[in-house]
Amino acid sequence: MASVAFIGLGHMGAPMAANLVKAGLTVRVFDLVPQAMRSLTDLGALSSSSACDAVAGVDVVITMLPAGEHVRALYLGDDENKGLIEVVAEGTLLIDCSTIDATSAQLVAKVATEKGLECVDAPVSGGTAGAEAGTLTFICGGTNSAFEQAKEVLGHMGANIFHAGAAGAGQIAKICNNMLLSVLMLGTSESLQMGIAHGLDPNVLSEIMKVSSGGNWALEKYNPCPNVMPMAPSSNDYQGGFMVDLMVKDLGLSQEAALRSNSSTPMGSLARSLYVNHAKQGHGSRDFSSIFEQFTNFQQIKNKG
Ligand code: NAD
Repeated sequence: MASVAFIGLGHMGAPMAANLVKAGLTVRVFDLVPQAMRSLTDLGALSSSSACDAVAGVDVVITMLPAGEHVRALYLGDDENKGLIEVVAEGTLLIDCSTIDATSAQLVAKVATEKGLECVDAPVSGGTAGAEAGTLTFICGGTNSAFEQAKEVLGHMGANIFHAGAAGAGQIAKICNNMLLSVLMLGTSESLQMGIAHGLDPNVLSEIMKVSSGGNWALEKYNPCPNVMPMAPSSNDYQGGFMVDLMVKDLGLSQEAALRSNSSTPMGSLARSLYVNHAKQGHGSRDFSSIFEQFTNFQQIKNKG
């Protein structure tokens, strides 16, 4: 059984690492926030005093961090710390599951390759529910041999594991997906709100649209209207789930990628503007489906006031 260092135990990383522990792997964990390690050590994971401590002697390093700057600093080092690439043992497989810019993923892969290390960018789709259930989709970039090695450990945390192409390809595929997700969430929100403004029951409207041509993932799995789906973040005051700030980050990445490739992405561009405004109004740490509130009927607001 492989031994794994898991670094970054937030909304996604903690349940992912928990699934590795439950699968019987030896898991060493580290997060900058020490409390984040507690739920994992209760399950049997080994806590570490630093990222360098966590990776000592393991077969696989997995990271689940907020953004590109965190990933670059951790793997390549900064003014204060050595990079993990410098300290891991020969033959260690590096897997970064964070959603970051493809350029950073390619840079980490290049430096790792120069040191003789295999490296995979493996961003995920499926949200916190998928992380808990072990049904995530992993979207990988890297060499065939790195991908084949990564598949084994990723299989304990996910149901679908794709090889999108060379280093960075996983990140490009991931932001294509998240740009589409934002557009689906916005369209679903405005459609539901228009129905509600006309007196429709959002439960009934959702059932109709789910099996009609408007059916989509947001309606089926993540309804943005409170009290339609008891387990969705919308029914829990938009707590947990996928933060607006992270969606803003991903939409920024998608627009950078669009510029680099001269792609026309008007829907993605509009989605980014709408999510940036939502974040500016103080919703950054709420779930991204809270964008639903931006489409509340004007008359309803006046009536409430
Ligand atoms: P999060 O902010 O909840 O967790 C990030 C964790 O990383 C935090 O606990 C933080 O303390 C830790 N961290 C940051 N820098 C660190 C370092 N140098 N060393 C150790 N720990 C460090 O974020 P999240 O929701 O878990 O998302 C993580 C990544 O997964 C992001 O890139 C996000 O875009 C992506 N993602 C999130 C979701 C979701 O639904 N939340 C879904 C798909 C992808």
